[in-house]
Amino acid sequence: MKASIIAVGTELLFGQTVNTNATYLSENLNHMGFDVMYHFVVGDNPQRLKEKLADAFSDTDLVLLTGGLGPTQDDLTKEMVAEFMGAEMYLDQRVADDLRDFFKKRGGHMAENNYKQAYLPVGCTPLYNASGTAPGFALSKNGKTAICFPGPPRELKWLWEHGARQYLEQLADKKMYYRIIRTIGIGESDLEMLLMPLIDGQTDPTIATYAKEGECTLRVASQRKDSEDAKLATDEMIDRIKELAGKFIYSTDDEDLNEVVVKMLKDKGLLISSAESCTGGGFASSITDVPGASNVLHSSYVTYSEDAKVKMGVPAAVISDYGVVSKETALAMAEALKKHTEADICISVTGYAGPDADPGRDAGEAYIGYVYKEYKGVARVHTNRNDRRWNRNYFVLRMMRTAYMLLSGRADELE
Ligand code: AMP
Ligand code: MG
Repeated sequence: MKASIIAVGTELLFGQTVNTNATYLSENLNHMGFDVMYHFVVGDNPQRLKEKLADAFSDTDLVLLTGGLGPTQDDLTKEMVAEFMGAEMYLDQRVADDLRDFFKKRGGHMAENNYKQAYLPVGCTPLYNASGTAPGFALSKNGKTAICFPGPPRELKWLWEHGARQYLEQLADKKMYYRIIRTIGIGESDLEMLLMPLIDGQTDPTIATYAKEGECTLRVASQRKDSEDAKLATDEMIDRIKELAGKFIYSTDDEDLNEVVVKMLKDKGLLISSAESCTGGGFASSITDVPGASNVLHSSYVTYSEDAKVKMGVPAAVISDYGVVSKETALAMAEALKKHTEADICISVTGYAGPDADPGRDAGEAYIGYVYKEYKGVARVHTNRNDRRWNRNYFVLRMMRTAYMLLSGRADELE
């Protein structure tokens, strides 16, 4: 079934409020197998809202609205939806009682205009709101359904979980199942080429690639009458994707690389340490973003200056002979780290985050050193960018990938 979303509120048009409700509803509708065709945003204006209702219903049978259900004069969504669908309003006694209780408990006076919230369209399914005062509702007529939600995102989510989802389950003619595959070490166009035999002529499941910062994500989705069928078809397709691109995949469940690395370290009972220059501790920070990091992170040194690198144990001669941003310095940092911490995996980084670099050198050039069991080496990174934020994030990601490859027994593939 095709669906539209109409977000109502002048504050959205002013750019004061981000339309997160539309994102939330779209994602959830998609998940349930509805095809979201349009997002509209309209101010608190009855005429334009009516026009958008007409637009939305001209092409889609389901319209979800958010905002404009409150007690004030500019809250018009409910009235406009009722008018558009030809329904009268009635006073819902349960909402009226709840409102009175709500204000009594707060010990405050209830302004008369609050009763406006207790009026609902005749024939609707009320969505009683325990997380706020304005109820939502679903109204179906002649194969067309409107569902209205209050604007505050917390209340919208509460009503979604307590009534709206169940209501929509009866309407959904297909079930959607999807999984997100995360890859690293391959660009979006190369990945698409690799998967072309599966992507070409696809109908169901569908495969879509999305480039993220420094990595690439695949969404594999299936819509079937039966949710078990959709799941089966998706999982089978993932197996075929693995056959073609398995070595680039680090998660088939939308996990971040730092989560995967922490999980692997935990499972193997290993400790990791980092010696970081241009990332300023970003690697350790990313590891500690994951709950349970205390089991796996031994320590992190931010050896930003040459002096700090030497004090940690990098021979001064290595720096003067090869330069502070060099393979040799990166390896010496990792080796010094190993001596200090005895951690199982020691990872270092030295590089130019940019926008400037030393004369004759490029921003975005970095060396990642590692020591793990009998493996020792350095990976060279060259982003060709002078965007400091991007480079620092990318270096951290590459350090994470280095740890991931070592933990996966693929040290020989580290360049
Ligand atoms: P309303 O129900 O229109 O009175 O909206 C109440 C509040 O909910 C607004 O002041 C916003 O902060 C928030 N809100 C309204 N619409 C949205 C939306 N589409 N996305 C996120 N927040 C919203
Ligand atoms: Mg509003």
